[in-house]
Amino acid sequence: MQLLLPFIGLSFSGLAYANSSSANPSATVTGFLSTSSGTLQVPKGASCACAKLSRSMPKSVILPGSANYTTQTVDNYWDIRADLSPACVFVPNTTAEVSQAVKIIGACDAHFAVRGGGHMNYPGSNNIDAGVLIALSNLNSINVKRDTVDVGPGLNWYQVYSALEPHGRVCIGGRMKTIGVPGLSLIGGFHYFNNKYGYAMDNVITYDVVLGNGAQITVNKSSHSDLFWALKGGANNFGIVTRFELKTYAVPRVSTTIQIFNETNIPEYLSAVCEAAKLDDNDPIAAGMISTITYNATTKMAQGSILGVQEGISNPPSQFANFTKIPATQRIHNVTTMKPWAETLDSPKQMMRTMKPDAKVLYLIYKAWKAAVDSIADVQGLYPTFVTNVISPASVRVAKTNGVGNVWGLEEEPLIIWQFSTGWALAQDDIRMEAWSRQLVEHLHGFNKELGLASEFIYMGDAGEWQDPYAGFPSENVARMRKIRSSYDPAGVFSTLSWGGFKLGL
Ligand SMILES: Cc1cc2nc3c(=O)[nH]c(=O)nc-3n(C[C@H](O)[C@H](O)[C@H](O)COP(=O)(O)OP(=O)(O)OC[C@H]3O[C@@H](n4cnc5c(N)ncnc54)[C@H](O)[C@@H]3O)c2cc1C
Repeated sequence: MQLLLPFIGLSFSGLAYANSSSANPSATVTGFLSTSSGTLQVPKGASCACAKLSRSMPKSVILPGSANYTTQTVDNYWDIRADLSPACVFVPNTTAEVSQAVKIIGACDAHFAVRGGGHMNYPGSNNIDAGVLIALSNLNSINVKRDTVDVGPGLNWYQVYSALEPHGRVCIGGRMKTIGVPGLSLIGGFHYFNNKYGYAMDNVITYDVVLGNGAQITVNKSSHSDLFWALKGGANNFGIVTRFELKTYAVPRVSTTIQIFNETNIPEYLSAVCEAAKLDDNDPIAAGMISTITYNATTKMAQGSILGVQEGISNPPSQFANFTKIPATQRIHNVTTMKPWAETLDSPKQMMRTMKPDAKVLYLIYKAWKAAVDSIADVQGLYPTFVTNVISPASVRVAKTNGVGNVWGLEEEPLIIWQFSTGWALAQDDIRMEAWSRQLVEHLHGFNKELGLASEFIYMGDAGEWQDPYAGFPSENVARMRKIRSSYDPAGVFSTLSWGGFKLGL
């Protein structure tokens, strides 16, 4: 439960801690932040932390009322529902500052949230009311090395692809340009080239982490190897990552395809999606796509599309032959590089479930979704999409054979993640839209369960806040993650004070 933040004064330029001197201020007790222009009433822990942060690192703290405060708390979020009102925003410039801040926050018993690229899509996943927001945007250094790249958590994937471009190299990150490096890398990471190189998490070879007690550690295969495993899909349960060292691959040119299909060809289109999940070459050509069906509930027109990328210069790209043989309304093939491709893909509410590939059932799910969209056609600004992501056996094999693994623990079998990604204009429709998505997705998942097609795997990046991704991991992996969390964060800073994301639970 978040605490509300009643503003007594509206403009704040300086800050002093005017709280009682309890050693362990509770977040439920009110504290006051005196400012030159007014007093802010916030939970005691937040007033303690914001005042101490302001005193020790004044240049890195942003208070309500300043122009930068709005930039930090509103403009940096992909989902406008995530705009909240932190008591203060801490924007560290160094890992040492992150460490000092975590120590202060822990000592003050303050609630806090961490933001990387700000793309996680539910309120409170990366922002907080009346607590401390740690915004990592200034940790944006990048260092391209021979076959790896060091990346700060303040960067987005487009910035990383741009830095690698002159070297003819790519790394495994996000498909849309503004997604942040840290969130995606810590939850998994769907990229076009998963079938050859695994998921983004499988490509991190070093993490610099600030633990709950402020300690700075470097985590890799030989140092803190248990935490190294847990960070591969374990999200924000263990610490704040201040540097990711990522593997890079020589892919100087990519072959791309944009294909659009009208509604009559959607059965063949969904069949090709299922076939893509089943592709399982021993020596695969790296290739993958964004596959989306859009539906206009006013015109009743639906269309399917793929945005495909393949390594190399095959034109048309050979790995999309199952799509290329379907009549299309538009088809554009190109040979280019990752940077200009990613540049065009700027970044709707997501709800998803996973199933074994069955083209007929996937088509029935699509039809049920379309009928359900008709029932909400009156919603202002409605932008409904039906998105599919594939998990191929080869993409899972990477972690099974790299001597590290990841927390997903998937079997080498093809899976399809089907997802409703829905945009709408007005906050007054939030509850209706969330209930619509949730009921529909669970009803259709139940249908798949009866058919023996359902998988309980849920990708955190596309999950609704009510969904539990950990329930889809092997229970022994979840137990191991909890044990690792207890040993690295015995005080529970990242399980009791840190808000947002998908928490491992007790
Ligand atoms: C339009 C859109 C397109 C997407 N496309 C893809 C895609 O192609 N592939 C894919 O895999 N996913 C995709 N996603 C999902 C995306 O990966 C997640 O939303 C991811 O969390 C975004 O990372 P971020 O850094 O922007 O997240 P944020 O929202 O900033 O953070 C996500 C979570 O991680 C925590 N966190 C952030 N930084 C750190 C850190 N340094 N240390 C510890 N914890 C941290 C935050 O507290 C938060 O709980 C997409 C999402 C959207 C909205």
